[in-house]
Amino acid sequence: MKKFPPIIKGMPVMLHGGDYNPEQWINSREIWEEDMRLAKLANINTFSVGIFSWAMLEPEEGVYNFSWLDEIMDMLSKNGIKAMLATPSGARPPWLSQACPEVLRTGSDRRRSLFGGRHNHCYTSPVYREKTKKINEMLAKRYKGHKALGLWHISNELSGECHCELCQEAFRNWLKARYSSLDELNGLWWTAFWSHRYSDWSQIESPSPIGERDLHALNLDWKRFVTSQTIDFLRNEAAPLRRLTPDVPITVNMMGFYSGLNYNEISKEEDVVSWDSYPVWRGDENDVRTAAAAAMSHDIFRSYKGKPFMLMESSPSVTNWQSVSKLRRPGTLLMNSIQAVAHGSDTVQYFQFRKSRGGAEKFHGAVVDHEGSENTRVFKEVSAVGSVLGKLSQVAGAAREADIAIIYDIESQWALEDSKGYKQDKKYLPTLIDFYEPFWENGATVDVIDQTHDLSGYRLVVAPMAYMIRPGFAEKAKLLVERGGVFVGTFLSGIVDESDLCFLKGAPGPLKELFGVWCEETDCLYDGEQSMVGFKGKAYAASDFCDIVHLQGAKALGWYEEDFYKGFPAVTMNEYGKGQALYIAARMEKAFLSDLFDELIRSLGIATPFSGKLPYGCTAQTRTDGEVEYVFIMNFGTKTALIDVEGGGASMLTGKAVAGILELHPMSLEIVSRPVSPEKRKI
Ligand SMILES: [Zn+2]
Repeated sequence: MKKFPPIIKGMPVMLHGGDYNPEQWINSREIWEEDMRLAKLANINTFSVGIFSWAMLEPEEGVYNFSWLDEIMDMLSKNGIKAMLATPSGARPPWLSQACPEVLRTGSDRRRSLFGGRHNHCYTSPVYREKTKKINEMLAKRYKGHKALGLWHISNELSGECHCELCQEAFRNWLKARYSSLDELNGLWWTAFWSHRYSDWSQIESPSPIGERDLHALNLDWKRFVTSQTIDFLRNEAAPLRRLTPDVPITVNMMGFYSGLNYNEISKEEDVVSWDSYPVWRGDENDVRTAAAAAMSHDIFRSYKGKPFMLMESSPSVTNWQSVSKLRRPGTLLMNSIQAVAHGSDTVQYFQFRKSRGGAEKFHGAVVDHEGSENTRVFKEVSAVGSVLGKLSQVAGAAREADIAIIYDIESQWALEDSKGYKQDKKYLPTLIDFYEPFWENGATVDVIDQTHDLSGYRLVVAPMAYMIRPGFAEKAKLLVERGGVFVGTFLSGIVDESDLCFLKGAPGPLKELFGVWCEETDCLYDGEQSMVGFKGKAYAASDFCDIVHLQGAKALGWYEEDFYKGFPAVTMNEYGKGQALYIAARMEKAFLSDLFDELIRSLGIATPFSGKLPYGCTAQTRTDGEVEYVFIMNFGTKTALIDVEGGGASMLTGKAVAGILELHPMSLEIVSRPVSPEKRKI
């Protein structure tokens, strides 16, 4: 059996619940009682509490009031609900900003904020660190051993950066630790450019719209520093919790493709990864792309630790920040929720349980509406999700096993998006989704990892737009291929090193030998322009970027059919050791990626739940405990699909046998359990 332990000790089930803000109803105890009744009806077993409760816990400096939280914790315990107890640093009380303005965040324009909003503190401020540590210590002391305490939810959606003097000093100290001398920094930052050479550390300032923004290596190091300083702040928060409640796991809820932090580094500080997912479901054919993008996001968060993660927030209905808050169609909530489980989540949590009566989030979706009863469509759908999760207890802890990895590297993204040249919009994230989609359509499990990750367990590694090559990555890619793996790279790869310095002697830099090509130039096409590429007897459209490459050991599999580089290779393959390295020189249309990866999946014998490709809009994702595999078959399309459930299995929804052709309506799913085949068990 290959099963991970439950996220909350003693709860080997799927967790279902959400953010619960009883402090907003502190004068209405009857609401608290009603919430417990409604939670039971909605099949809820966990609540995140205390996220924004600092002003209620410490109404004045040094004056504490935990009695209301005591009551809530006791009520949760009495009702069999576990608390994901939050530390309150995501938003602070007004008295703290008034007494100590250093806790207020300073923007890149060097203006200090006034009190207001949330996620707006200085991570360096000794005062803020002292205050957060103190209240965390009090929470840990008070609720240590409490039956309801299941997990620590540190802060909320850590994000942003501060440019105050304290942070400038911390940045300079961080740089002094990173570089042996100012000369070394000047060299690696290429400060001879525009006469920007520093003669004293004190001259270095963080990037600013009213100051330095053209030293890309400075911009890159600043982003690295922001992650490092956020981690330092996080460790300060976690210290009393680790010390007083060592058995209670810690998580930090993260946000999709948020690019302000290196989440791979943040995840190393957590016991379990959690994230907040808010895809926009439109109720039309766009939902297929939305589903693929959401699937990839789940795989990113699962891959950080390679074990089950938590869907910490999702909307039970609408969000309140989009230009149109279109209602989700009936059935969409179940798909949104179970999709996360299919990709490795052991929880479905919502923001929020009871809708706020006032403030900015009063129209954000909630399990319980202002109307207050269980008689709403949304409440009934949430309850149905809880009921399905109740049937999936044996899936909790089950793994995902991937032969394929896609490289999504935040440092490379930072450098690529900051670069001036080529085209302004490089489309890094849409490119990743384009490359992910063919695997999703085949039901092949994919890990989405960064360049620092070990590659040795994969048979196919795809690294789209690997603009920056970080130390060690090229060596790992070579080793993978030498041993018989396949490595796929693309245009705009191998251009700069970790200091954002261009590689000399030609792109793709350290990957040149592996790919057996030299990219001399890159033609950038205007939006709407296309060039044609011939590949295996078919013609495919290329757009945006067309690398002009010379073969240096590789052989061409496809050629440009137009323009002055007609006849130049557009797709190449290099035999290297026992494996192959493929280079896709242009941004190719989706049909090309599907044809290429469909064939690679078959030729490499990569495991998929069913032998053929699934109908358009459908996918099948697998989790396994080594003995049994759980196949989540989902139709995100607008048409009823017919899927051949080869080998059959038992429906985890109805308990009935599933065999032959399964008819799946739009936005619907089936979950089948079946024994793992003996061949796979040997592996
Ligand atoms: Zn600061």
